[in-house]
Amino acid sequence: MKIFECGNCFHPLYFENSSCEKCGNQVGFLENDLDLKSFDSSFYSISSKEKGVTFRYCENYKFGVCNWMIPQDGPSEFCLACSLNRTIPDLSDQENFEKWKKLESAKHRLVYQLLRLGLLNSNSNPENPTPLLFDFIAKQGNPDINTGHQNGLITILLSEADSVHREFMRKQMSEQYRTLIGHFRHEVGHYYWDQLIAGQEDELQGFRKLFGDERLDYGQALQNHYQNGAPTNWQQNYISQYATAHPWEDWAETWAHYLHIMDMSETAFYFGLSVQPLIKESSLKGKISFDPYDIQQFDKIYKTWAPVSFAINSLNRGMGIPDAYPFVVSAAVLDKMIFIHRLVSQ
Ligand SMILES: [Zn+2]
Ligand SMILES: [Zn+2]
Ligand SMILES: [Zn+2]
Repeated sequence: MKIFECGNCFHPLYFENSSCEKCGNQVGFLENDLDLKSFDSSFYSISSKEKGVTFRYCENYKFGVCNWMIPQDGPSEFCLACSLNRTIPDLSDQENFEKWKKLESAKHRLVYQLLRLGLLNSNSNPENPTPLLFDFIAKQGNPDINTGHQNGLITILLSEADSVHREFMRKQMSEQYRTLIGHFRHEVGHYYWDQLIAGQEDELQGFRKLFGDERLDYGQALQNHYQNGAPTNWQQNYISQYATAHPWEDWAETWAHYLHIMDMSETAFYFGLSVQPLIKESSLKGKISFDPYDIQQFDKIYKTWAPVSFAINSLNRGMGIPDAYPFVVSAAVLDKMIFIHRLVSQ
């Protein structure tokens, strides 16, 4: 995520801000500008490229879960990010409400990233038979409801927004990392497999060379994985143990990591981060001098990101919190990410 600033006083802003803490001006996110903009008292943008348009906040602003703006006289009451919701929880329950807030925060970051990658255009195309949609629901003892993806519909269980439950699940599943943004990035990976690869012979062949044959029985493969775990040498070819379960899960896991790295690189670029560690090994020097979304070669993005990630992990260890990126990207995994970046950049 990039760093934003107030259009009135240039105070730095977070993506989630709806007013400037310094000058008090209203700010909101404009999807066409992909930027947080400042608004005067009649809701004209001070700095948007959309001149002469009056805006209003998305309907979900009143719940404190959205700061995106829509044209004052536009047809929808929701912004693009919120219009992807098919089901939201019953908000009269305060616990549900708090969990939904966390889900929205992660989802808005996801949607920003999909917009940066130019991947949401097809959603507004009325001819797209499977637009991307979200169900945020409680399991309520129903074994058939799980976090997952089916035909464009992504379900995220409300319980995933409970950090105690999430940590419990992380340990139970022997995962190194479990976060809300990670869930969103993984599940949307399944959606984009359908959009970018299914039914396209060339892409399918490229996919199978790297990830394996997805015609393998999915249900059986998952069952095997939960019974036997990952093969001992999984780190040579996979980003996580779960990625070994089936080529589709390998794709979704690798896709999520691709999005992690792109987001971290973008943030590092906008903060002008560079690392010059005081050791002899020169491969750990790095300066992210480009916006990764403008770069064609993913290996270049990866090479400049890796030292920064190592530095961020070291800072986290100093604070006694888990590594921000607790994974090793092998050469085989990097090839998979290069494939994804090429596919997305097309
Ligand atoms: Zn300001
Ligand atoms: Zn909204
Ligand atoms: Zn999956």
